[in-house]
Parts: sequence; C-alpha cells; structure tokens
Amino acid sequence: MTGTLTIAGLGPGDQALVTPEVSVALAAATDIVGYAPYVARVQAREGLTLHPSDNRMELQRAGDALRLASEGRRVVMVSSGDPGVFAMASAVFEAFEAAPQWQGLAIRVLPGVTAMLAAAARAGAPLGHDFCAINLSDNLKPWPTIEKRLRLAAEADFAIAMYNPRSASRPEGFGRALSVLKEAGCGERLVIFAHAITTPEERIETVMLHQVRPEMADMRTLIIVGNSATRRVGRWVYAPRHAR
Ligand code: SAH
Repeated sequence: MTGTLTIAGLGPGDQALVTPEVSVALAAATDIVGYAPYVARVQAREGLTLHPSDNRMELQRAGDALRLASEGRRVVMVSSGDPGVFAMASAVFEAFEAAPQWQGLAIRVLPGVTAMLAAAARAGAPLGHDFCAINLSDNLKPWPTIEKRLRLAAEADFAIAMYNPRSASRPEGFGRALSVLKEAGCGERLVIFAHAITTPEERIETVMLHQVRPEMADMRTLIIVGNSATRRVGRWVYAPRHAR
C-alpha cells in the first residue's frame, strides 16, 4: 500500500493561517475529501480530484477517504480550523478502528488554527487562564450531558469556548445553555461573540452574560464565556493569570 491519508486543518478562514505544512500536503495531494464548503477552499488544479460531500456524512466520508488511500491515492481530508477539534479526525479513527483491512495505511494528522484560538487572539487573551471547550450540538450527545458539563464548568470557574452554538435545526439549545449558566451564577461574566473570524464577514462583540440574546449566535459564531475574573482593558478582554 503506497497511498496516504492526511487529515489536515485549514484554519479559521484566512489563507495566511493555513500552515506551511498543510500547504505542502495540499500541493502533493491527488484527492481532496471533505465537507463541501471546506473542499471549496482548496484551489483546483490538474491532477487533483475534489470529493465534496454533505454535512453529517462523516463516517461515510471517512470510509471513502480510507478506501481511496488504500487504492494508492494521496488523499487529504480537510476540516476547518483544527481537524481534531469537533471535526473529521475522530471520524476517520472510528472508521479505521472498524476496518482491519486498513490497519497498514499511512495516516497523518496535521494541526490547524482552531476557531477558539483565532477568536481569543482577536479579543485579547480570554483563554489565558484555565478553560474548556464544548460543542453545543446535540447531534451526537444527549442534551442533559451538555447541561451537566456547562454547570460543572461554571462551578469550576473555567472560561468556556462554545462551538456550534446555534443552527436552523437546533434554534433552542443556545438559549437553554444561557439559562444553565445564569442559574449557575454567571450573569455578570463577559461573553465574547466572534463571528466568521479572519474572513471578510468578521464581527466581534463582547457583552455581559445577562445581556445576551440567543439571536446573537449562529453557526459561524464561536463564543467565549469568560471566567469570574475575566476583565476589559480598553478594547481588549483578558483573563488574569492568577486564580482566586
Ligand atoms: N474544526 C473546527 C471546528 C468545527 S465545528 C475548528 O477547529 O475550528 C464548527 C464551529 O466552529 C462553528 O459552528 C463555529 O462555532 C466554529 N467556527 C469555525 N470557524 C469559525 C470562524 N472563522 N469564526 C467563528 N467561529 C468559527
């Protein structure tokens, strides 16, 4: 088997945030596999076959990528941000684990700049102290698990980065998440809404949690809820290095 499967992160949007390592892998690829909007970020060229697919087809997409690689192709599976953060790398390893015939394949995972880091850099340093990240989508986990994790993260006084806060098919979840945090006493915490960071549509706004309206979030928004010490200085938001 001479094929390879490279699982690569394209960063949050700006071409300048695609790492040189990922650019080299894309230039050497014969096939690009991924969710259509991410595949569209790869420049078409002769000798390169693009395989865009729909959202929620992760396992099938992962299986297709492994099969192509097993046929000798140099396959790059693309994700936005980092491929290991709420993205395709886990789906590939699920498919890989279930398929003994592919165990000899050469797989590499190339990191990318995940949305929470790009958003934090724009805001200042809101992740400068202990933090956690949570995916608010309940497609693959029950809602009570999300609520429990939010409650405990608030109690532990982590800053909380929230991915996938709100979509047309899940309009209610974000409002429920806000209620959980309010009940946990987080009403005075600063909340950063980072929309389409590093793209031409970028918008960033910081408000207190009790001022948040659910409509402020959509699927292109990354939210960072500060910890209880997170503060503003001028136009910046940061977490001091000392915990109380
Ligand atoms: N693997 C990706 C995350 C995929 S989940 C990463 O590491 O960034 C998709 C979610 O990521 C979106 O719903 C949004 O919450 C966040 N996201 C991705 N790109 C973003 C961007 N440019 N600006 C703001 N949020 C973004």
